[in-house]
Amino acid sequence: MAQGAHMNDAGVRKILDSQWCPVCAERKERGRSLCRTCFDRLPLNLKRGTYLKLGAGLNRMLQRAIDWLKAARVPHVHSDDHVLGGSA
Ligand SMILES: [Zn+2]
Repeated sequence: MAQGAHMNDAGVRKILDSQWCPVCAERKERGRSLCRTCFDRLPLNLKRGTYLKLGAGLNRMLQRAIDWLKAARVPHVHSDDHVLGGSA
């Protein structure tokens, strides 16, 4: 088995079935993959990806969305100058 790069359909189902967002651990609606806040943050192409069906690539797209959100999550520091890729 490849090292958990992608989750499988069972993993996705677990997320859909849960009441907790896999990214921020806030409450979400069952049947949705992400909470409203995280979903709203996604770029459009990733948002679209979360509408896919299980077996139609949702696992891959959801994994991407989650990875994106985790990478985009900035720790509470708001005035951090080098967040936006300052090369200085
Ligand atoms: Zn969330």
